[in-house]
Amino acid sequence: MQIWQLLQDNLPLALTVFGLLGLCVGSFLNVVIHRIPLSMYQDWRAGSVEILSEQQDIPANLIAPIADIVAKDTPITLSHPSSRCPHCAHKIRWYENIPVVSWLALKGKCSQCANPIGLRYPFIEVVTALLSMVVIFKFGVSLPAMAALVLVWTLIALTGIDFDTQLLPDRLVFPLAGLGLAVNSQHWFVSPVQSIWGLLIGFLSLWIVVKIFFLITKKQGMGQGDFKLLAVLGAWLGPLMLPFIILLSSLLGSIIGVILMKKRGESKPFAFGPFIAIAGIIALLYGHTIMNWYLGQY
Ligand SMILES: [Zn+2]
Repeated sequence: MQIWQLLQDNLPLALTVFGLLGLCVGSFLNVVIHRIPLSMYQDWRAGSVEILSEQQDIPANLIAPIADIVAKDTPITLSHPSSRCPHCAHKIRWYENIPVVSWLALKGKCSQCANPIGLRYPFIEVVTALLSMVVIFKFGVSLPAMAALVLVWTLIALTGIDFDTQLLPDRLVFPLAGLGLAVNSQHWFVSPVQSIWGLLIGFLSLWIVVKIFFLITKKQGMGQGDFKLLAVLGAWLGPLMLPFIILLSSLLGSIIGVILMKKRGESKPFAFGPFIAIAGIIALLYGHTIMNWYLGQY
């Protein structure tokens, strides 16, 4: 393909194209981060009504009013309903939805009700664009780079969702694990064997830590989603990268944890997934560089 060849031969052009693509993908990730949890809650509501109505000891007249409410839910998908201002339900038009530009033009306010539009929307767009450019810079315009983009984009979505809701949806995590195994069947990041071991060891290492932590403290220190996320990174990057990811995410987690504790004045549970995801992105891009540098010190 001519365009592909052109991008391969011209790095500044490739960085510009993938930067702009990253802005648009970031805009879509904002929708993913907002809507996937909502759609999961809807599924759970419907599922729990179904389960409760099958229980003999729960009177049907207790379930009926809830079943009515749940039946009125408008199904939320990524494309439906169209985006609206959460304050005044003003329908967001296409020219109010251009990544970063619209936010700046609207000065961060809804055009109808002037309520603020969070800084996180342009922030996620810019971060997605910058990381997309770093991926292209690192891997060049290549098939592994395209796979790395999918990994990074999904990790950004998972970071946002876990940060908001402390959930790491299986509907994103499982396909990402499968994709990791698939791309490494072609030796794109590690060998197929390493990929499988990475998946297993990624899951089991945190699982064991949490079981031991539970035996000692009787507290659940981490969610299952965290093991699954580490398993995903193992499948993509291999088992040798896992100690690096665990160390880096614990380091990030403890620093941010201390800051949050000081700010809130108490120790509330916070999502650990974002730190694993961020450590995973750093490991994908610079894990080998950092490890080689570290090992070179001795
Ligand atoms: Zn509004």
